[in-house]
Amino acid sequence: MASLSEPGSVMGTSHRQPPVRHVVAAIREELTELYNLPTDYEVALGNGGATLFWDMATVSLVEKRAATGVYGEFTRKFSSALQRAPFLADPAVFQAEPGKLALPKAVSDVDTYAWAHNETSTGVVAPVRRPNDIDDNSLVLVDATSAAGGVAADMSTIDAYYFSPQKNLSSDGGLWLAILSPAAIERSNRVTSSARWVPQMLDLSLAVTNSRADQTLNTPALATLVMLEAQCRWLLDQGGMAWAASRTASTSGILYRWAEDNPLTTPFVADPALRSPVVVTIDIDESVDAARLCARARDNGILDIEPYRKLGRNQIRIATFSSIEPSDVEALTACLDWLLENRD
Ligand SMILES: *Cc1c(COP(=O)(O)O)cnc(C)c1O
Repeated sequence: MASLSEPGSVMGTSHRQPPVRHVVAAIREELTELYNLPTDYEVALGNGGATLFWDMATVSLVEKRAATGVYGEFTRKFSSALQRAPFLADPAVFQAEPGKLALPKAVSDVDTYAWAHNETSTGVVAPVRRPNDIDDNSLVLVDATSAAGGVAADMSTIDAYYFSPQKNLSSDGGLWLAILSPAAIERSNRVTSSARWVPQMLDLSLAVTNSRADQTLNTPALATLVMLEAQCRWLLDQGGMAWAASRTASTSGILYRWAEDNPLTTPFVADPALRSPVVVTIDIDESVDAARLCARARDNGILDIEPYRKLGRNQIRIATFSSIEPSDVEALTACLDWLLENRD
């Protein structure tokens, strides 16, 4: 953030001139390196965030029918977008209750499979790999909004790994990015040149054309790009995704161990293999009002440990993103211990 106001910052300069295009180029190169992308994969970006990408994928990628894993609010939102599209058959939905995981399985008339790497509303982490026995022509789309930059993943068997940069990538909102396979780009070229009406903002082919020129279709927020580039560079300097994954595993481990050791708290996700390394959800005993706990923390400058609204549990939810210092999380557990011991 400090670099935004330094002399030579791109803030206030033309979005179409080389200095800004260099920032976009650097982001595309750094993500290519971070994820060790196969040479024929590409990084595309545009305005609107992951929510826009759901509509873009619905319009530009799914041909006839998708299958979805639904295990929380974010996975549900994409599935609902697919459900509402009048030109698609209703998706095949593989559903699990919050705190558990359901991945889509092979379905004969489905051409696109979708789920989220990290279900941010519940703190469930999912595998990133092509489902067994699906048709070779099928696309696999993974929403990586809170996982990208914090949980390792192999891109080589999937077709789109898309995300907004305001979570684990420590930037701001408003942008979507997608790591795309050649099959995804080919599909989008075909679907968007078919009879289907495709609004320009939802045209993935057009986004790819602009991205190849280190541009976006319409004007992006420069601060978002600058901060994203700085975070990608920082991650690479620290040791890339292997470093990030081991750091988030140990930071989240501090909280999971704390929750297991305290009689008033339990990790919400029962299966340790499904516990997210970047979003930790902890159930609080009914004898303690978690909303009051969060409010008292907030009064003391400890923000955003509230649970996901719609989940409606007596819970706290804590981000353990790559840029969060493990010592801050240790300090947080000490604060929570104090609040639990000194209830009003
Ligand atoms: C936050 C989030 C989104 C929505 O991101 P926006 O930038 O608000 O569109 C989508 N998917 C997941 C998994 C998220 O965590």
